[in-house]
Amino acid sequence: MKFDTIIIGGGLSGLTCGIKLVEKGQKCLIVSSGQSALHFSSGSFDLLNHLDGKPVIEPLQAVAALADSKPQHPYAKIGVTNFGILTQEAKALLQRTGVATVGNATCNHYRITPLGELKPTWLSVPDCAISPNGNTLPWKKVSIFNIAGFLDFHPTFISEEFQKMGTLSEVYTIDIPELESLRRNPSELRATNISQLFENDAAFASLAEILKQGRNHSDIIIIPACLGLNDNSIVKLNTLVGCQVYMIPTFPPSIVGIRSQQRMVTYFRSQGGYYMLGDAVNNIDRETNGMYRINTNNHGDISFTARNIVLATGSFFSKGLVASRQQIFEPIAYLDVDAADKRQDWYSENFFDDQAYQYFGVRTDANFRVSKQGNIQHRFYAAGAVLSGFNALREGCGSGVSLLTALHIADQIVKNDPS
Ligand SMILES: Cc1cc2nc3c(=O)[nH]c(=O)nc-3n(C[C@H](O)[C@H](O)[C@H](O)COP(=O)(O)OP(=O)(O)OC[C@H]3O[C@@H](n4cnc5c(N)ncnc54)[C@H](O)[C@@H]3O)c2cc1C
Repeated sequence: MKFDTIIIGGGLSGLTCGIKLVEKGQKCLIVSSGQSALHFSSGSFDLLNHLDGKPVIEPLQAVAALADSKPQHPYAKIGVTNFGILTQEAKALLQRTGVATVGNATCNHYRITPLGELKPTWLSVPDCAISPNGNTLPWKKVSIFNIAGFLDFHPTFISEEFQKMGTLSEVYTIDIPELESLRRNPSELRATNISQLFENDAAFASLAEILKQGRNHSDIIIIPACLGLNDNSIVKLNTLVGCQVYMIPTFPPSIVGIRSQQRMVTYFRSQGGYYMLGDAVNNIDRETNGMYRINTNNHGDISFTARNIVLATGSFFSKGLVASRQQIFEPIAYLDVDAADKRQDWYSENFFDDQAYQYFGVRTDANFRVSKQGNIQHRFYAAGAVLSGFNALREGCGSGVSLLTALHIADQIVKNDPS
C-alpha cells in the first residue's frame, strides 16, 4: 500500500504528527508496536520546568536562553518564535481530539504527584487537581478517598504533604460489594479495571453517595485517577455530589494518559488516518524512485511505501534506542546517533547526577532530518523522545519536545508536499 507519509511509533509524537498531516489532507499510516510513554505518564504535559538546574516559571521567556546555551536542543532547532506558535497549536490540536487541558506556555502551573508533592507543568487535564503555585494549595480543607485495597495511591502521604502546605485533610475509604471481585486478585485491582467497574450505573451511584457522605465541609473531594477511562465520570460526579471532585494521578497504568492516547487515535482514524497497533517495523529501504519502503513483523513480504518517513519510536523505554554492552544504536535503520563511545561515559554512578545517556538519541539536522553514515536522508525525519540533545527528566520537557517537534516536522512535510 502507498502512503504520503509513514510514521513509525504511535505515542504522543507519532500521533501528533499524523493528526496534523491527515488534517492537511495527507494519506498517512502510523505503525505502533505497543504501549507508549503515555500509558505511564502523570497525565500532565511538561514543556520546560528546569534550565541549568534552576526552576523555570515562564517557559516562553526562558526558551531564548535555552536556545543560546544549548544549540543542539530540539527547542533551539525549532526556533524561539516558532516555539511560541507551536505551543498554542499543540494545545488546540489536543483540544480537537477531545483532550481538553488547562494551562499555557506563559506560566507553568503545578500538578500533584501520587505522593502529594507539587511539580511544575505546562498542560493538565481539567479533572485532575492542580495548584497555581509551587508551595501552597488553593483549598483550606479537602477530603481524600481511596479505594479499599488499592495499592497504587497513598492518601496518607498526600495528606502529610498537604498539611506541610497548610491544607487540612481527612482520609476515607471507598468500599462497595462490586469491588470484591477485583480484590480477590491484587493484580486485578488496577486503575484501568476500577474505571471499567465504575462504568456500571449502580456502582457509580454508590460511589457518588459515599463521596457525598464523606465531604464533611471540605472545599473539594480528591479521589485516585481511576475513573473516566471511557466517559466523563468526573463531570457527572460533580453534579451528583454537589461539590468539586478532582483526581490525583496514581502509579501506572495512567488512566489520564491512556485516555489521551485513545482519544488521539480515535480522532486520527476519524480524519482518515491508518493506525496499525501491535505491529513493529523491522526495516526501512529507499527505492531508486526515492520512495521509502518499510516491512513489518506481522505483514512479512507485504511492504508499505511512502514519500516521507517519520521515526517516532521513543527512547530506550520504548526500544527506539537500544544499548548493548558495546554501543548505543537505533535498531530499525541503524541511523547515526549522538552518544558517547565508551560505556563508562554513558552514566554517572550517582543516580541523581545529570545522566549523559538521557541526552543520547538520533542525530538530526536543523529540520529534524536524520542521517546515516554521515549522509542526510531526505524526507526522513525523527520526532519526540528518540531525538538527541535534551533530558526529559532533568529539564522537564518530555511532552513539549514530542508535541512541538512533531508539529514542526509536519510543517516541513506539508511544505515539501503541497497537495
Ligand atoms: C515512563 C515515562 C513516563 C513519562 N511521563 C511523562 C509525563 O508525565 N509528562 C511528560 O511531559 N513527559 C513524560 N514522559 C516523557 C515522554 O517521553 C514524552 O512525554 C512523550 O510521551 C514521548 O512520546 P514519543 O511519542 O516520543 O515516544 P513514546 O511514547 O515512547 O512512543 C514510542 C512508540 O513507538 C513504538 N515503537 C518503538 N519501536 C517501534 C517499531 N520498531 N515499530 C513500530 N513501533 C515502534 C512504541 O511501541 C511506542 O508506542 C515520560 C516518559 C516515560 C518513559
